[in-house]
Amino acid sequence: MSYTRPAKRAWRLRRKQLGLCVDCRNRAEARRAKCRPCLTKGDEYRRLHPRAEYAAKYRDGHQDTNRVYQREYRAAHSSELRAWRRANKDRLNTHTNNRRALRNSLGNDLTREQWSAIKAVYRHCCAYCHRKAPLTQDHVIPLSKGGATTASNIVPACKPCNSAKRDREAPTLPPVRLLV
Ligand SMILES: [Zn+2]
Ligand SMILES: [Zn+2]
Repeated sequence: MSYTRPAKRAWRLRRKQLGLCVDCRNRAEARRAKCRPCLTKGDEYRRLHPRAEYAAKYRDGHQDTNRVYQREYRAAHSSELRAWRRANKDRLNTHTNNRRALRNSLGNDLTREQWSAIKAVYRHCCAYCHRKAPLTQDHVIPLSKGGATTASNIVPACKPCNSAKRDREAPTLPPVRLLV
């Protein structure tokens, strides 16, 4: 999480709203904060200064810090975030549609009955934290790694656990072999 001074942040936002590159004022790429040359410059910089590994290590050590920070940020900016979602409906829809397309292309034969049966096997508790909570369908092998939406690849997860896992695989997980 990098900190940007409020004044600088406001200035970058202004540029972005005007569709100008936040670095050099030239016309920015569609839906990007920077123009093509500045984007390339950034790519080049990152290539020469490979921090990805360091950043990943940092994130692993600071997951809770980040989560707390994010929760506080969301609480403090809830109306702005709501406004952003309202203004970017098409973007969010694209995300949802892409995900649905991916889901269908990988196989999606989970029936409502199977989902009920899976939840019953787990006694209507989250497969990760074992708490009783509203349950979501969690892919044991994530969609991003080619996991299908099929009974043997779905476990119930509460929302916090589902989003905590994100695209990582959870090998410690006991996916129940279903008899449905
Ligand atoms: Zn630029
Ligand atoms: Zn959970």
